[in-house]
Amino acid sequence: MWLTGRLCPDFKTIADFRRDNGKGIRNVCRRFVALCRQLDLFSEATVAIDGSKFKAVNNRDKNFTPHKLAQRMKQIDESIERYLQELDTADRTQSPDAGRRGQHIQEKLSKLRQQMESLRQIEEQLKLQPDEQLSLTDPDARSMATSGRGTGMVGYNVQASVDTKHHLIVTHEVTNEGHDRRQLSNMAMKSREATGKEQLDVLADRGYFKGLEILKCVEAGITPWVPKTMTSDNKAKGLFDKRDFIYVEADDEYRCPAGEQLPRHHSSVEAGLLIHSYYTTACQRCELKSQCTTGKERRVRRWEHEGVLDAMQHRMNITPGKMKQRRCTVEHVFGTLKFWMGSAHFLMRRLKNVKTEMSLHVLSYNLRRVINLLGADELMVAIRRYVAAT
Ligand code: SF4
Repeated sequence: MWLTGRLCPDFKTIADFRRDNGKGIRNVCRRFVALCRQLDLFSEATVAIDGSKFKAVNNRDKNFTPHKLAQRMKQIDESIERYLQELDTADRTQSPDAGRRGQHIQEKLSKLRQQMESLRQIEEQLKLQPDEQLSLTDPDARSMATSGRGTGMVGYNVQASVDTKHHLIVTHEVTNEGHDRRQLSNMAMKSREATGKEQLDVLADRGYFKGLEILKCVEAGITPWVPKTMTSDNKAKGLFDKRDFIYVEADDEYRCPAGEQLPRHHSSVEAGLLIHSYYTTACQRCELKSQCTTGKERRVRRWEHEGVLDAMQHRMNITPGKMKQRRCTVEHVFGTLKFWMGSAHFLMRRLKNVKTEMSLHVLSYNLRRVINLLGADELMVAIRRYVAAT
């Protein structure tokens, strides 16, 4: 309305415009970020990355996985069985309203059989889906777990990278993957391109911790800050944890709690990663063995690029406060976006359209933020200057 001089297009015109101009809308969002860069609004060269699940136009009942399908079929089977038993009872007792009741049960049974037939057809379609998931209203939406217990939703995973100085959204992405593990390097590279910074620090939560992703960032000259997921079977069993073993880089060996040296023995490739194995034969006569291993000897495994993860952990140990900075930077952004979008979140269907819709929200968010920072007049002058120069 503002762009068109206060014309008031109706909802259909707006919806058509949004549908037909996806590329243009996404481009405006990108160019506004480029303008922010030109205005030197990304001066700290640090971004916080996070992801949040947004609801799609797809009810949970219209989303199927093999597990959900099996559960629903089981429920229908149980209902059919219950009604058949009721029919038997009605036949045996010959009560006065047996005829009416019998007819009512037959109708119920007929409906349940129709539902079962529909589920069988869905079962066939489900077999054709590469990720064994089918959404009937928005085929690209996926069932996703959320942090609250039992609060999963069918939707999209929105990724955002936010600069730590003015909390502007530097770049964003919409995916239908239910987790963040494969997003770090992609978001980090896009953030660097958008900010134009040679050196960029990237803060993310433990959901992004993945060795290969962290390595990609480091190799590209980006500094990642991602806390490690602390899960240890040995710790849970009351045994020494891997953190109790010290790696001595100069000798390529570990030093164990008993002071023994664990040299590297052999290597293997597991899930595409080269893993080295370190152990000593001294375990057999070690007094600490009961606290260390239940096997013949304790083996410590190390990924060939684990030094990258050790260096990141060291950085985090000596620079506390990075995760607080991450939280304060990025989490309220999602809160604001969801507040604006209302309880239904996305209004469009299909990933391509949802990306456009998100770009509009991100553009609005950044526009309002820059208006707050510079004022509308100064922003208008900057936009005119930017448009004239490009
Ligand atoms: S059991 Fe082996 S690895 Fe563990 S503390 Fe003893 S010598 Fe070291």
